[in-house]
Amino acid sequence: MTEAVDDLQSLRSSSDELRSIDSSSDEGGTSHRRQYLIFNVDSDMHNSQFKLGMEFKSHDMFRDVVKEYAIKWRKHITFIKNDKQKVRAKCKVSCPWVCYASYVKHDGLYRIKTLDEHTCNRSFDVAYVSSKWIVKRYFERIRLNPTWPIQSLSDTISSEHNVKVDLQKERRARNKVLTQVEGTTAEQFAMLWSYIEEIRNTIPKTTICIKVKQIPKVNEWTNPRVSDGIDTESKFKRLYFCWGPLKKAFMNVYKLVIGGDGCHLKGSHGGILLTAGGIDAKNCIFPFAYVIVEKKKKKTWLWFLELLEHDLNIVNFHCYTFMSDKQKGLIDAVAELFPNVSHRFCVRHLYNNFKGKHKGLVLKDLLWKTARVTTVPAFVKVMAEIKEVDCKAYNWLVERPPIHWSRSHFNTFPKCDLLLNNLRECFNSSILEARSKPVVTMLEKIRFVVTRTCP
Ligand SMILES: [Zn+2]
Repeated sequence: MTEAVDDLQSLRSSSDELRSIDSSSDEGGTSHRRQYLIFNVDSDMHNSQFKLGMEFKSHDMFRDVVKEYAIKWRKHITFIKNDKQKVRAKCKVSCPWVCYASYVKHDGLYRIKTLDEHTCNRSFDVAYVSSKWIVKRYFERIRLNPTWPIQSLSDTISSEHNVKVDLQKERRARNKVLTQVEGTTAEQFAMLWSYIEEIRNTIPKTTICIKVKQIPKVNEWTNPRVSDGIDTESKFKRLYFCWGPLKKAFMNVYKLVIGGDGCHLKGSHGGILLTAGGIDAKNCIFPFAYVIVEKKKKKTWLWFLELLEHDLNIVNFHCYTFMSDKQKGLIDAVAELFPNVSHRFCVRHLYNNFKGKHKGLVLKDLLWKTARVTTVPAFVKVMAEIKEVDCKAYNWLVERPPIHWSRSHFNTFPKCDLLLNNLRECFNSSILEARSKPVVTMLEKIRFVVTRTCP
């Protein structure tokens, strides 16, 4: 009860500060002053107060002020009457507070005609803390800190306003701000062509290919079913990026191993990002080419690898080794395009499949030992040990040719003994945030990661 009395005293003292307006400015020199106070959104909104006779420019403004008031003073307020002529707000709990405003035709304003006082206590859970309100209050701070964690945003709002906010509303608010800042998906796709042109002009020898599909143009004058698709427009389908300086590094200096991997894009446009990377002197993979495609399947891998083959001018397949997580589409595409090329499978991925059927630390150590040995006799010896421990595990491994997973059988031309496809761990995790962004923002963030990790 003491808290409620404090609120009321605060209300009374600050409402005195609200200014009155001189009606003579509207009525050509009559000298009387308007006896009512008019609410000023710019100066009074953050300290919303009510006073009998207070006036509002519009119905919506009055409602917005009631909501701000409810959040500021943490009251449960509802609208029991809400039309263009009359608005009545009432305290939800057993409290006499009512604020009633109606349209005054003569002045073209809404005036408070009934106002009671609160006898209720403050609440922590206020209904009007919406995503719209969060956007209005926190737009600038979210814009300056786009990766602000939702939980941290929630804690900030709770400590500054003493209200509880649903995490979902905060997430929605942050997305609304970022969409306003970065542009919608459609706006970003419209920018894509100029972005590509800019990259081509500034980063020499970079290859960018964009594939579009023609779809019937739909507008108010044409119906594709009626016009039979005569009037068409281009729609984005696939995009290929191969960075000039990285391509040069891969071809001139580094070991001829191409690691391939794919990951899902989480933005509203969806799709998959397929990546190819080379191996540097420290056995780290650096991505130099990637594509955005609709699905991860043989057809899209083929499209990617054909462009890569042309771009890298691959003529002697024997110089190259592919490395992957044994993705089906990639295996088929490599086998079709480069039938004699070496293809390694990531041993960690192999072990994950192995341990599902053959458990135990002994078998784990033996499998890794088999992968690490560098001579064929050593390989045969370790395989014999596996056969002694578990015959089924031995048979499982025999079905998988060691040329794909054991150093003892690798092609020695690339001078690279890498067993793991690090592309997934390193690159995919470093572009985690970028993967949920609209297309141009995503490409820019990936470009930043790629050039930062440039060898
Ligand atoms: Zn109340």
